[in-house]
Amino acid sequence: MFGKNAFKSLAVFIFCFFKIMSSASAQTPKDATPAPDVFIHTGFENASPLNWEADSAGRIIISLVYDHERFSQNRANNHWHFKVEAPVGKEVTLILQNFDNIWNNIHASPISKQSPIVLSTDGKTWESRPTEYIEGNRMQIKLKMPAASVFIASIEPYRISDLDKLLARIKNHKLVTITPIGKTAEGRSLEIIKIGNEKAPKRIFLRGRAHAFEAGGNWTLEGLIDRLLKDDAEMKLYLKRYCVYILPMTNKDGVARGKTRFNANGYDLNRKWDKAADSLIAPENYYLEKWLTKMGASGKKPDLGIDVHNDAGGNLHISRPDGDITAYRANMAKLDSLLRKYTWYTEGSTKPGFRNPGTLGEGFMERFGIEALVYELNYEWVEGLKKAPLAADWLSLGSKLPEVFYHYFEE
Ligand SMILES: [Zn+2]
Repeated sequence: MFGKNAFKSLAVFIFCFFKIMSSASAQTPKDATPAPDVFIHTGFENASPLNWEADSAGRIIISLVYDHERFSQNRANNHWHFKVEAPVGKEVTLILQNFDNIWNNIHASPISKQSPIVLSTDGKTWESRPTEYIEGNRMQIKLKMPAASVFIASIEPYRISDLDKLLARIKNHKLVTITPIGKTAEGRSLEIIKIGNEKAPKRIFLRGRAHAFEAGGNWTLEGLIDRLLKDDAEMKLYLKRYCVYILPMTNKDGVARGKTRFNANGYDLNRKWDKAADSLIAPENYYLEKWLTKMGASGKKPDLGIDVHNDAGGNLHISRPDGDITAYRANMAKLDSLLRKYTWYTEGSTKPGFRNPGTLGEGFMERFGIEALVYELNYEWVEGLKKAPLAADWLSLGSKLPEVFYHYFEE
């Protein structure tokens, strides 16, 4: 259909067209995207994965990247941790989006009109700030830059380096034994911290940070550990009654990568506790189960297990497996009242109809015969303190737990 000349003319035309277009664009730099004087920095430990851009009004639109679960449609964004770099005094508007989470196969937004953020200019001293909930299920943060860079996070961060500092500080204490029990999916070490005498009549096990964003649990456990190691007359008395075992940071891979919830393989470490964990997909649970089995075989089965979490409710999640749980429920009522008496906890237990199968609490009871629960610390608002919580509040809660456990195990 086309002759040789027609092809030749077409080739010349295309060549000239691109020549003209490229020289035109080189001559009109005004069409180029202007460089913003704001930079969102995520190149540091525990920073969250995100995309960002400045819109035509100069607002910074931050699109968080969902953390996805394997074998379900569940997805979560509840961790944000980034650094804003901009000139001092500049008014910066940040809009965070992608909060269309799916939890237990139900659409659930993690943000509300009450959602605060935490902010720090040095990454060490943090303060809480309210945010605005705007249309499109988005969070707006308005900020006048108090320094050339400001860290912003959902919860006061507790990083692997924070845990490493704690471990280095306590490892030679005469009451402490740190035992490696296995490795995470990405090969990070999992350790159990034992505090006290394993021959004490009672044993308590606590797990922290199954979900990567829930730093409040780590702060609480650090408060508990530091108080126990004061080794004063009170603690000497308490540790005659019980020995404490702590797996402080379960989902280290998620913490390292700034993820929200799941382990490196997209596994929810507070689900599927009704069955034995797969050593490849959920090594974090597999090694804990192995340790529990060993403890049971040597007559040292824990008397109580607490999985420490964060949510926007702050309740004790009572386990409700099938069978008679009368004695357990009486113990949980006792724990609830002791927490009210000795700490700032006021949030209460989940209502009798509430059941969340597959949690560590239920799995411990059904498969290991250990009374257990999930303790959710409210990361948005502490009613007992009438404030949004910071690390100091959780450290203080943790420091009161030795007394709670002492009375819990009173005959
Ligand atoms: Zn959780």
